[in-house]
Amino acid sequence: MRDELELVQDIADRLGVRAERGRRFAELTSLRVGGAIDWVISPETEEQAAATVYELDQAGIGWRPLGSGSNVLADDQDHHYVVLNMSEMKGEVLIEGDRVSVSAGYSLPRLCIDVARAGLSGIEGLGGIPGTVGGALWMNAGAFDHEIGTVTETVRVARDGKVTEVPGESIQWNYRHTSFKDGELLLGATLRLTPDDPEQIKARMDDAKSRRLASQPHGARSAGCFFKNPPAGTIGTGKIIDEMGMKGQRRGSAIVSPVHANFIVTEGENARAEDALALAEEIRERVRREQGIELEYEVELWRSNTPETPGEDKGGKEEQQS
Ligand SMILES: Cc1cc2nc3c(=O)[nH]c(=O)nc-3n(C[C@H](O)[C@H](O)[C@H](O)COP(=O)(O)OP(=O)(O)OC[C@H]3O[C@@H](n4cnc5c(N)ncnc54)[C@H](O)[C@@H]3O)c2cc1C
Repeated sequence: MRDELELVQDIADRLGVRAERGRRFAELTSLRVGGAIDWVISPETEEQAAATVYELDQAGIGWRPLGSGSNVLADDQDHHYVVLNMSEMKGEVLIEGDRVSVSAGYSLPRLCIDVARAGLSGIEGLGGIPGTVGGALWMNAGAFDHEIGTVTETVRVARDGKVTEVPGESIQWNYRHTSFKDGELLLGATLRLTPDDPEQIKARMDDAKSRRLASQPHGARSAGCFFKNPPAGTIGTGKIIDEMGMKGQRRGSAIVSPVHANFIVTEGENARAEDALALAEEIRERVRREQGIELEYEVELWRSNTPETPGEDKGGKEEQQS
């Protein structure tokens, strides 16, 4: 273990990236739960990030990328791998005509405002989704008839220590799921948007945000919708859970939001991932028993065990992008 710890510090020093010990998922995720992390490394440029994961792979050290942590439930144990904190890799937004190039660590809500001001339409429905561009690409974030994959022309990924471009059309963009593989680090993207009147784009974005405010808890510690909607159903998961009378149901520090039944929120200084998970499993069990529907997680569950093969399995991602 000691060797590995020194090796990580060595790599970070050599590449000039910040490496920290003693951080917890509870500080890095929007649910504000989760245990200690061996190392958090925060690259600031795409080149640095690509070189970092290459070196970690060469040294056999497991790692996982984290954006703003708004779609991750990490368990309460110690996590023995490197978390690559992408949220510091903000870069700059470059707008040329209808093309927009942005780094993975840039804030998605911020990007939506930037492009709206520049008179570019296509992502205004995503303006209220917290998180980074990288996290949104990874799971094809979407809302109000917009999905990021639809407007993505190319994605920059880390390959053999270098920044490499892949065409957006070679990627499968499904409902909260893409064909990116564990171990693939997304560095940035070029989006192709549609010119439109900035006032009208802003009006549509404001409308999407106010509809969100009316139907979702705000200021609460959540990870957005906990479960996907059932594929064939006409009724959404939130409504199913609500109709079973589960709004306000509590397990220790975790509660089914009284505002939106597909949101689990946490409370208190010492909130626990195990409470949120137990509540989620209780919901799944009742929906299975009473409705015959198998709910799939939309939130990612991160287990604390160490990845066996670096760059392939990032430490037991139980429900990959489900
Ligand atoms: C209040 C609230 C409302 C939400 N509403 C919506 C909604 O309407 N629609 C929606 O789609 N989502 C929604 N979400 C979920 C979440 O905001 C999105 O999934 C967001 O895109 C996640 O971005 P992130 O940076 O926080 O990713 P994280 O949660 O940090 O990571 C999510 C996944 O992406 C991977 N990842 C992150 N960055 C990279 C990278 N650079 N390279 C490779 N993999 C990476 C992580 O390893 C992880 O597997 C909501 C969340 C909250 C808290």
